[in-house]
Amino acid sequence: MKWINRNDSEANYEDRRGKGRGKRNAAVGGLGVIVIAVIALLLGQNPFQAVEMVNNIAPGESTEVVDPSRLNENEELKVFTLGVFNSANDVWDEIFRTQMEQNYQRPTLVTFTDETVSECGGASAAVGPFYCPADQKMYIDLNFFHQLRSEFGARGDLAMAYVTAHEVGHHVQKLLGIIDQMNQYKGRISEADYNKLNVKLELQADFLAGVWVYHAQQLNIIQLEPGDLESAISATTAVGDDTIQKKSMGYTVPDSFTHGTSAQRTYWFRKGMESGDIRQGDTFNDPTLR
Ligand SMILES: [Zn+2]
Repeated sequence: MKWINRNDSEANYEDRRGKGRGKRNAAVGGLGVIVIAVIALLLGQNPFQAVEMVNNIAPGESTEVVDPSRLNENEELKVFTLGVFNSANDVWDEIFRTQMEQNYQRPTLVTFTDETVSECGGASAAVGPFYCPADQKMYIDLNFFHQLRSEFGARGDLAMAYVTAHEVGHHVQKLLGIIDQMNQYKGRISEADYNKLNVKLELQADFLAGVWVYHAQQLNIIQLEPGDLESAISATTAVGDDTIQKKSMGYTVPDSFTHGTSAQRTYWFRKGMESGDIRQGDTFNDPTLR
């Protein structure tokens, strides 16, 4: 993926790298994070999502602690992610104006190291990148991209860009009222049925990430290079529920799927990328997803 016009604006960017929450009892804090990471692995937790609540950090007294050596950590990844984030917002601004006659409100990108707080609760890096609808911010510990490469085996620019574009996709869903509609079902339908709805939400965010790829090219922001599509597909395949569960547990529990299978995630991402047509992204009424 080559940048033709990268927007480096930091207008909607909050940099919390190297600014962690200090705990009174560091040993407990450290262990807590490890335990959470292990549990996430055992459950085959799916990275990058839209969350109403993240309660992955135990509440407790904390103060902000700055680690000067980590303030500019992963600078190259930050520049890249901010570029994708801004270009996704530029694309959605254009689509909202020309196709929906609505104003697009830009979300905020937050980069952090190890753990942070959001309106949706405290979160450690173990949750993976996420979008919090309550504060309309997307949170990412840039070290996730190293994990994407080493643990998920997804390499290349478009694999990384997909992650960010997917989170901006959740913001689009928030602005369109889709996330709020979904929340009305929480606790009122069975968990298996709610998971099915969540799969549709996640697949739509994958579709919207694909729509970004299409329009970012049209608007002369990026240019794809050989290997980019394969790179994106390596990511959409790696984060499929079936693939993650097989890897972590050795078997799959389809009722517990929350993000969709590898095949479904790849299908919807490609559909968005090849059509660029938002009208084709109604995962909620798609006959194959009943
Ligand atoms: Zn998601």
